[in-house]
Amino acid sequence: MAEDAAAPHVLLICYPGQGHINPMLRLAKRLATKGLLVTCCSSSIVRDKLAAASGVSAGGAGVPVGRGRLRFDFLDDPFDGTELDLHDFLHHLETSGPPALAALLRRQAEAGRPVACVVGNPFLPWATDVAADAGVPAAVLWVQSCAVFSIYYHFANGLVKFPREGDDARLAIPGLPDLSAADVPSFLHASHPYKVLGDTVQGQFRNMARASWVLVNSFAELERDTLAALPGVTPRPPRLIPVGPLVELGVGGQEEGDDGAGAAMRGDLISAAEECVAWLDTQAPRSVVYASVGSIVMLSAEAVAEMAHGLAAAGQPFLWVVRPDTRPLLPEGFILDGAAAAAGGRGMVVPWSPQDRVLAHPAVACFLTHCGWNSTLETVAAGVPVVAFPQWGDQCTDAKFLVDDLRMGVHLRAPLRREGVREAVDAVVAGPEADAMRANARAWSATARATVALGGSSDLHVQAFVDEVSRRAR
Ligand code: UDP
Repeated sequence: MAEDAAAPHVLLICYPGQGHINPMLRLAKRLATKGLLVTCCSSSIVRDKLAAASGVSAGGAGVPVGRGRLRFDFLDDPFDGTELDLHDFLHHLETSGPPALAALLRRQAEAGRPVACVVGNPFLPWATDVAADAGVPAAVLWVQSCAVFSIYYHFANGLVKFPREGDDARLAIPGLPDLSAADVPSFLHASHPYKVLGDTVQGQFRNMARASWVLVNSFAELERDTLAALPGVTPRPPRLIPVGPLVELGVGGQEEGDDGAGAAMRGDLISAAEECVAWLDTQAPRSVVYASVGSIVMLSAEAVAEMAHGLAAAGQPFLWVVRPDTRPLLPEGFILDGAAAAAGGRGMVVPWSPQDRVLAHPAVACFLTHCGWNSTLETVAAGVPVVAFPQWGDQCTDAKFLVDDLRMGVHLRAPLRREGVREAVDAVVAGPEADAMRANARAWSATARATVALGGSSDLHVQAFVDEVSRRAR
């Protein structure tokens, strides 16, 4: 469809990490599908990687998606390339981000596309302040679960006593099952080495009340109890508006007509090895173990070796994502034919996969996952059972959710041992509970798809947001 020059313009901005870029881009596509002009924005630190791995180019009028358009832009926040730890990097963003975002908003107005709403990200609370100071309505996209929102909110407001690691005490939060210390996001443990993450968690709520909407990457059917309990908490938290799962489900296809060139746009920071989909085509239905620990988790050399031997011993074909930074840790000789064949040709190792396409593939039997929230929602939406292997942060809570609440997998506990990998994979693929886990996963997949389909609960929330932004823009 032709560009509507008067379409309201929404600018989404996120922390420059893969787990933030993906939900931002997917929400952007949903908003564009419904007729908005949408700009996705992040720090210039990811500009070159997005260009190289995903062909993303900044500026211009954008590409069509459904009835709207999608474009990218980057903050002018020069970065000298020094390796910074998270604390210093967040400080860099907090210092250079606000003036850069204010300048970007001015440039958009000068280019004839004034921004009608800024959708920020919890790691960048200053984006809400910049928008509010410029007189632009603000929203926040919460990129973790409602359960984790509730836990962080209780923590930030000192509403419950958090168990220490090793304590037997259980944490009782309304709307959530009782949680052990191991189920709570690890950043909240007093002994956690990265205090900055605990501080960032608190900072997320600093100015959330200035945002008119808190959109959340989850869906009402999945977290009904948590969503029902939150309004009863004092002080009252902002209302969460579920718009997820923000996953690729044959993108754009919620509305009649052409999805547009931007519907297939990806936001990978590492080029996805598309050839693994052709390899999956050659595998038997429901036979392949897909394994990935996402974009940040760094396993020890010992854990990588145990994982390698465990996957090789499990008796199923496997597709294993070993990022370039982890590849040197693979046992010698594990990869036989370049990146193509591992463990005697039964496995494939790739630096990065098109994970949405992999999980949707009929050859995939289970997902050995670190349980990042995006991976969690993606496997729920695809209906693929899991071996849950969380490492830190909210992954611990997500794993409990997948295994104990949704009952669609098993835990794989630390320390990682090859026998443990083999046993966990066997349990999910062929064990006595395997059929029940698969049935649960399938049922959740159907619910997830229905909620984002036209007229589903998350789709209606997205539509209501679009309508309200459009009304305010007039
Ligand atoms: N992902 C991918 N290919 C891979 C590994 C991960 O496309 O080989 C995507 C995955 O689909 C998800 C994101 O990267 O959308 C990772 O986010 P998640 O919240 O699961 O974990 P994080 O990387 O933030 O720990």
